[in-house]
Amino acid sequence: MARKGEGRAIGIDLGTTYTCVAVWKHGRIEIIVNDQGNRTTPSYVAFTDTERLVGDAANNQAARNPINTVFDAKRLIGRKFSDPTVQSDMKLWPFKVIPDVADKPMIVVNYKGEEKQFSTEEISSMVLSKMKDISEAYLGSTVKDAVVTVPAYFNDSQRRATKDAGTIAGLNIMRIINEPTAAAIAYGLDDGNASSETKNVLIFDLGGGTFDVSIATIEAGTIKVKAVAGDTHLGGQDLDHQMVNHFMKEFKCKYRKDISGSLRAVRRLRTACERAKRILSSTFQTTIEIEALFEGIDFFSTITRAKFDELNTGLFSKCVEQVEMCLRDAKMEKSSIHEVVLVGGSSRIPKIQQLLQNLFNGKDLCKSINPDEAVAYGAAVLAAKLSGDGNNTVQNLVVLDVTPLSLGVKCDGDIMSVIIPRNTTIPTRRTKSGFCTVKDNQTSVTIRVYEGERSRASDNNLLGQFKLEGIPPAPRGVVKFKDCFDIDVNGIMTVSSEVTGTELKKSITITNENGRLSKVEIENMIMDAEKYKQEDEEHKKNVKAKNVVEDYAYSTRNTIRGAARLTQADKNKMEVAFESFIEWVKSNKYAKADDFEDKMKELKTIFGPIIDKM
Ligand code: ADP
Ligand code: MG
Repeated sequence: MARKGEGRAIGIDLGTTYTCVAVWKHGRIEIIVNDQGNRTTPSYVAFTDTERLVGDAANNQAARNPINTVFDAKRLIGRKFSDPTVQSDMKLWPFKVIPDVADKPMIVVNYKGEEKQFSTEEISSMVLSKMKDISEAYLGSTVKDAVVTVPAYFNDSQRRATKDAGTIAGLNIMRIINEPTAAAIAYGLDDGNASSETKNVLIFDLGGGTFDVSIATIEAGTIKVKAVAGDTHLGGQDLDHQMVNHFMKEFKCKYRKDISGSLRAVRRLRTACERAKRILSSTFQTTIEIEALFEGIDFFSTITRAKFDELNTGLFSKCVEQVEMCLRDAKMEKSSIHEVVLVGGSSRIPKIQQLLQNLFNGKDLCKSINPDEAVAYGAAVLAAKLSGDGNNTVQNLVVLDVTPLSLGVKCDGDIMSVIIPRNTTIPTRRTKSGFCTVKDNQTSVTIRVYEGERSRASDNNLLGQFKLEGIPPAPRGVVKFKDCFDIDVNGIMTVSSEVTGTELKKSITITNENGRLSKVEIENMIMDAEKYKQEDEEHKKNVKAKNVVEDYAYSTRNTIRGAARLTQADKNKMEVAFESFIEWVKSNKYAKADDFEDKMKELKTIFGPIIDKM
C-alpha cells in the first residue's frame, strides 16, 4: 500500500511498435517523456559490436543494422516457435529466430562480436527496463511497481510471459490489465465524460500489431467490461506489409528485379511505406522516393488513399467483423452504444473511421482521448489506485474485466467441456462436477486444460495438464470428479481437480505447456539483465571519457594553432601529438574510460608546457 516517499507505481503500455509510460504526479496522470523528448518509445532493441540500444536509438539505426535490430517481440511472446503465425512473421523479420529444445522461439543476434540468444521475454524486458529508467529519471526516485497492459485477446501464456518480462526487468508487476480496459479507464476519468448516467462505450483499439475491441459499461466510477473481441495479429504493420508487397511488385514490373532478398532494401521500403501510410491519413495522394533502393536503382512512385484502402479491404473488414462479434457477445444493439472511442495509432486511418461510423449509423466517433497515450494513462490510474496514491476518484474506481477465451477441460471423445465461458467477469472461480471414470478400476486420470472456442478440445490451445493418481478402484462411472478453475485479476489461471467425497485433490498453476520460463531461468535472466545494464553504463562512461579527451585535444590544438607567440617548433610538436592521438582513437575502438584518461594525461604532458608559454 501507500509508501510515501518511496517510488511511485507506473503504468506501461507495452506496444508492438511503441511503448508508453505514465504516472500519477502533481494530482494528475502525466505521460513521461523519454530521453529524446518523445512521449512514446519504439519497442526496439538493437545490438552492435560496441553496445546495446533500446528505443529511439535502436530504431534509428535499424536500416544499417537490420539483422541485429529486434522488434515485434510482442508478436512472439508466449507463442511457440512452430506457431503458424510465428512461421509466417519470421519471413518478414530481418533478425533470426530459432527454436530451443522446448519449441520456444529464441532470437539470435550478434552482440559485441559474439552470437547471443535471447528469449522474447528478455527482449521485452529490455524495453520495460528502459521505461523503468526514464520513469526513474523523471521522478528522481527508484521505481519498482508497475501495471502493464496486454491486448484483451492475449491468452494465458502470453499474459504470463509478459509478466515474466516485467520480473526480468526488475519490476514488480502489480497487475496485468487489458489494453482496451485501460483505455476505458482513461475515457471514464476524462473530465468531459464524467457523468452519473450509465454509458455503454465501445473501445476500438487498432495499434501496430494487435487489434482489440471491447464493450464496457461505465457507471459512477465502475467500469465493467461486457465483452472483448479482437485479433492478436492484426495492426498497422499488416497494412504496411500490403503496401510493401504492392511496391515490390511494381519494382519487379518496372525493372525486372526482385528486391525481396535484400534485407536492407526491404527495410528501407517498409519505412517509406509506413511514412506514406501516415501521410495518407491526412492527404489523398503521396509519393515514395528512395534513392538507390536496389542495385543502384532509384525508386520513385506514388500511391493514392483509394489504392491504399483497396489493398487493405480484407484487413479492414476483419476489424468490422470483430466489432460485430463483440456487440453480439455483449448482447447489445448498435443503438445502445453511447460512445465509440478510438485508440491506437492505426485508428487514425480515415477508411477505418468511415467504416465504423457507417456501422454505427453515422454516429460521431469519440476522438477526445489521445489514441497513443490512453492505454498508458489508464494503466497509470490503476497503478495509482493499487498503490494507494491518486485522488478520491482514482481510489473509488472499480474495474471489472472479463476473460477473452473460453476455458475448459478435455472430456472423453475429445470434447471441450467449457468451465468458464469467454467474457466471464474476472476474478472468478467456477467448479464443474459430474466428470467420472471411463474404465473399470481406473486408478488415474489426466486433466487437460484448454482455452478456445472450438468444440473439439484438440483444436483449441492446450494450456497444461496434470495427473490425478491413487483413485480407489471402482466400476466405470462410479468415481466422480470436480474440476475447479480460478482466474485471478490478471487473467491468469489455476486449475484443481478432486475426487468427490475424498481427500484426493491436485492443482496446477498452468506452466510448462507453452514453454514458460522456469523460476531458475527467470533468476538467471534477471542477473543477465543487470549485467547488460552495467555494460550499458560502462559503455556510456567510455563514450563520455572519449568525448572529454577529444574535446580537450581539439580545443587545445585550436588554441595552440592560433597563438601568435608560440614557435613553429612547439606548434609542430603539438600537431604530431595530436595526429598520433587521432590515430590511436581510430585504432582503439574498444578503448575503456581508463585508457582515455591515460591518453588525457599523456596529451596534457605534451600540451601543458606549450600552453604555459603563451
Ligand atoms: P502498438 O500499441 O501496437 O505499439 P500504436 O497504437 O502505437 O501501436 O500504433 C502504431 C501504429 O499506428 C503503427 O503501425 C503506425 O504506423 C500507425 N499509425 C500511427 N499514426 C498513424 C496515422 N496517422 N495514420 C495511419 N497509421 C498510423
Ligand atoms: Mg497499443
